[in-house]
Amino acid sequence: MIIGGLQKFSMLDYPGLLSAIIFTEGCNFRCHFCYNPMLVLPKGERSKKGHSRVSEDDLFVFLKERVGKLEGIVITGGEPTLHRDLPEFIKKIKDLGFKIKLDTNGTNPEMLKKLLPLLSRGGKRGLKGDRKQNPLNPPLQGGLIDYIAMDIKAPLEKYGEVVGLSDLSLRAKPPRRSEAISVGALNEIASSSRGGTSRNDNFVNLSNIQKSIKIIIESNLPYEFRTTLVPGLHTLKDIKKMGALVKGADKWYLQQFKSDTDLVNSDFQKLRPFTDKEIEKMRKIGEKFVKECEVR
Ligand code: SF4
Repeated sequence: MIIGGLQKFSMLDYPGLLSAIIFTEGCNFRCHFCYNPMLVLPKGERSKKGHSRVSEDDLFVFLKERVGKLEGIVITGGEPTLHRDLPEFIKKIKDLGFKIKLDTNGTNPEMLKKLLPLLSRGGKRGLKGDRKQNPLNPPLQGGLIDYIAMDIKAPLEKYGEVVGLSDLSLRAKPPRRSEAISVGALNEIASSSRGGTSRNDNFVNLSNIQKSIKIIIESNLPYEFRTTLVPGLHTLKDIKKMGALVKGADKWYLQQFKSDTDLVNSDFQKLRPFTDKEIEKMRKIGEKFVKECEVR
């Protein structure tokens, strides 16, 4: 696991629990408004700010010291599901007694299936395909996460544009060998994301996004969907379309875009965020689709 950062304490990021945050390095999206360019862009394209990696050894020394003091660990990125060793990594943290919250952009539903509670499999709400597992080589995984948050970036037809993958200059590039972040996994996802026919489906596998939404809604986990709202990218109509994507979900948070920090696309620093009034109008549309729609 390539760890691009560690926040040692948070009261906000894991609902209801005192937590620490682990930032994994590398992402297959290039969202214009992403405020973690140091985790997303390859070296050389990053801002001057930079970041320091944390070794797994140092991380586990820290975690062992925090047993009994922290309750949860948030794994965010970058995009954590790009890392093939994510299940083993999470298991090691869970074995210390922490609860795990995972943040994801939803591009890797197969990884989500591996991480979901075993209890949700095969039953009424079970996931298709699980019965085909080879009994001689059963998955280690299951029951590894306790809370999941997935970004809904845009209506499907605008996904590529919003996540910066319809813009050739920002498109995700595989990392160089020297900075290998599960290169195989990244390449796998990157290649499975290609081959679409419409302009915005060129670089995002939209069916994976839809599969992840379904998996999360049908899981027995507490979860949330969340959308960062950006002027120029999102309209009232888009809220309706995104609402339809997560229809019936428990929680959908609408988040204000922050322009006062380093962003993947520095042009977006010039943008004025939506006003509270504008966001509230969007929330009112959103609440028609889900059980709880809040602004944060
Ligand atoms: S905001 Fe976009 S680019 Fe940044 S880490 Fe999340 S998915 Fe990747």
